[in-house]
Amino acid sequence: MKYLVANWKMNLPQKGVRDYCAALTSTSDPGVRTVLAPPFPFLVETRDESVRLRLHVDIGAQNCSEHADGAHTGEVSPEMLAGAGCTFVIVGHSERRAHEGETDPRVNRKAAAAAMRGLIPIICVGEDQSVRESGETRGKIHQQVEAAWSEALDAAPEVLVAYEPLWAIGTGVHATPDLIAEAGSWISEAIEQSWGGKASTKTKIIYGGSVSPENAAELSEVGNVSGFLVGGASLEAEKLLKIHKAMAPRH
Ligand code: PEP
Repeated sequence: MKYLVANWKMNLPQKGVRDYCAALTSTSDPGVRTVLAPPFPFLVETRDESVRLRLHVDIGAQNCSEHADGAHTGEVSPEMLAGAGCTFVIVGHSERRAHEGETDPRVNRKAAAAAMRGLIPIICVGEDQSVRESGETRGKIHQQVEAAWSEALDAAPEVLVAYEPLWAIGTGVHATPDLIAEAGSWISEAIEQSWGGKASTKTKIIYGGSVSPENAAELSEVGNVSGFLVGGASLEAEKLLKIHKAMAPRH
């Protein structure tokens, strides 16, 4: 199974949710699980449209609270996300780590909370340019992967770890297949060494960072990576469809 996660970030598709979903009626390849991750207020509309059109898509959130309920103004619990139709939730996206104070321990607690509610956490890890240049990428990846683990992950139906080098996000410069494969092997190594249990056997690695219709076919050849997390290009349904087609298993 491959995964294609459309992270709209704090944007909406230009043509609106309805037209966007209408353009996705041909995303039916059962080998690619497509996840639409709109901003919170549009989760239900996206869910309803996808149900009405019988799309083969999942709904995902871009963030969740680490808490189940209570005095957490502005937060949204995994339970609420499940109620809005979500089956996936992104945790620890680099934009949240950089701008919203999301630390490794918080990412750990969020992934655990999502897993306990039966959601599939998409745990984002990756190095910035300076870490890459100083040759510390392997150590950074190990640290982030290790920090994300808790026994609670065993409760998740599946777990995705998204390798998202910061220098590739939104820049138009994607990581090369070799770099993605190398990072993928470091993630697998870290999972093997530090996760144990059931979670490691049901964890897949995906890549994010300037994935586009032009590079999707080449990048989907990387053997130890099972799909993409796409930001910018996912805002146009036509581009998402092209990426989807490029990554469908060859028959
Ligand atoms: C992202 O949002 O995580 C992302 C990878 O964005 P982009 O595809 O625009 O680089």
